[in-house]
Amino acid sequence: LRASRQTADQRPPLQISFEFFPPKTDVMEERFWDSIGKLAPLSPRFVSVTYGAGGSTRERTLRMVSRITTDTGVPAAAHLTCVGATRNEVDEVVRGYKAAGVNKIVALRGDPPEGVGQPFTPHPEGYQNAADLVAGIRKLGDFDISVAAYPEKHPQSPDWQTDIDNLKRKIDAGADRAITQMFFSNTDYLRYVERARKAGITAPIVPGIQPIHSFKQISGFAARCGASIPDWLAERFEGLEDDPETHALVAAAVAAEQVTELLDEGVTEFHFYTLNRSNLVLALARLLGRRP
Ligand code: FAD
Repeated sequence: LRASRQTADQRPPLQISFEFFPPKTDVMEERFWDSIGKLAPLSPRFVSVTYGAGGSTRERTLRMVSRITTDTGVPAAAHLTCVGATRNEVDEVVRGYKAAGVNKIVALRGDPPEGVGQPFTPHPEGYQNAADLVAGIRKLGDFDISVAAYPEKHPQSPDWQTDIDNLKRKIDAGADRAITQMFFSNTDYLRYVERARKAGITAPIVPGIQPIHSFKQISGFAARCGASIPDWLAERFEGLEDDPETHALVAAAVAAEQVTELLDEGVTEFHFYTLNRSNLVLALARLLGRRP
């Protein structure tokens, strides 16, 4: 029996988490809380809130994670980057999370303001990279730490060895799990996990699932972060720019295919990039057997 057709009591226990970004306007904030309200009853392991480039959302990220924890009872995870900041500044943010009762952190290097593909120069008094940041956070308290992983390699990794070595350094520095960048070919993810296991990495590598609310927007994001869009996927959305209903149905079918295939491959942990929307993710969680 395919795992996706098993009933809840036949399946191994699943873990899901949801990623949000800090809203910029009152209208966006309303949608943020509306979506959190709909997704919170699915008992996620955590709801995470991103950290804008170079700390630009520092206050908003802290405000959102604090409120998620107090208002919904769902554990919140705060993202944190070390780009462009001193160790002291970053440590101060970590202390702020701790004081707000947030003990889960997604620890990232971040990108230089010039863009993802540009060379990264650490702040002279800053953490050197994500592995260094993880080690720093570990010294400040008992945090649950997630780090980033790249099924298609990080754009700045010259080869697989460098990329996997880097993931290993992050886990060895004290990270509890890795969450992947979005990917649209499950084979890329499965091969990546195999490479990591061969390198002795035993920590969970949770697939980051990006539902395609807007093909145009997601292809832009993907290009910027080095995730590829397979030709078959582009073909599915071709010509649907002015047909939102068919676009939404195709998006649901594509994401459903991706998660059910991963479930059948034995994957039991999923991280969803929600873009602060709940509808597609609610449906996907249901396919995975998760209901309020
Ligand atoms: P690192 O793990 O430090 O690696 C970056 C590159 O440097 C890799 O190519 C690595 O191989 C190389 N490298 C590192 N150390 C060494 C070394 N000692 N020797 C040789 N090579 C080395 N960005 C944000 O700004 N805010 C967010 O909230 C955010 N959330 C994210 C969440 C997830 C799940 C993911 C996957 C990404 C997120 N990002 C976010 C994007 C992330 O900041 C970028 O992808 C960034 O380019 C790399 O961050 P990292 O933590 O993977 O860096």
